[in-house]
Amino acid sequence: MEICRLEHIHKDYRMGEVVTPLKDVSLTVHSGDFIVVEGPSGIGKSTLLYVMGTLLQSDGGTYLFEDKDVSRFSDSEKSGLRAGKIGFLFQDSALIQALTLRENLLFAQGIGQKKDPAQADELLRRFGLEDRAGFFPYQLSGGQRRRAMAARALIHHPALILADEPTNDLDEHWSLEIIRILKEQAGSGSAVVMVTHNSRWAEEASKRCRLEDGILIDISQTAAI
Ligand code: ADP
Ligand code: MG
Repeated sequence: MEICRLEHIHKDYRMGEVVTPLKDVSLTVHSGDFIVVEGPSGIGKSTLLYVMGTLLQSDGGTYLFEDKDVSRFSDSEKSGLRAGKIGFLFQDSALIQALTLRENLLFAQGIGQKKDPAQADELLRRFGLEDRAGFFPYQLSGGQRRRAMAARALIHHPALILADEPTNDLDEHWSLEIIRILKEQAGSGSAVVMVTHNSRWAEEASKRCRLEDGILIDISQTAAI
């Protein structure tokens, strides 16, 4: 099932000098996909995820989410889409400082939704945080915070999971574990788009792309570089 589709997306930043991280990017994402986008730092990977996450409006091209043109969405429709269908594992995502970990997860289950504490506890367990459920974010290490953000990103069973260098700050064990959990999510019907500056996870991908000069190139078929 198709979840979203970028068609000839163009994005530039105009702050003095014009920077064009996305010139002409096309990508179709289906449920079950685990798409890895590689590219060096500064190339536009995060920009791509901001567009896919409807946090940033492109300057050209079309972005369809479940066949609907997102550029026609109002702000509240976009925020409903994000809260309901998209999970963000971003470098700069933050937990709510005044809430404990468990409360952060319950909050992310959705405003107006029925709360499911058992599911929150199950996710905390999967991310090795069961004994930190009552901790506030400031009481966690950087790696624990990142795992907590990953748990929060998954709690509403998002159709699309956007992961921006999700293994940064994590040790070997948890890097492997995060990738395993993301693959498991794809296996259970979500789609994952993960961007990374290294090619380490290439073999895990169902589709491997490289962002280069503002264009997304499918390198699934080529040998690892
Ligand atoms: P990556 O995630 O691959 O490191 P980014 O998408 O963060 O790359 O950034 C791509 C380019 O766009 C960089 O050169 C960056 O400096 C520039 N850039 C990112 N955000 C902005 C912004 N809000 N305003 C101006 N330039 C930006
Ligand atoms: Mg980035």
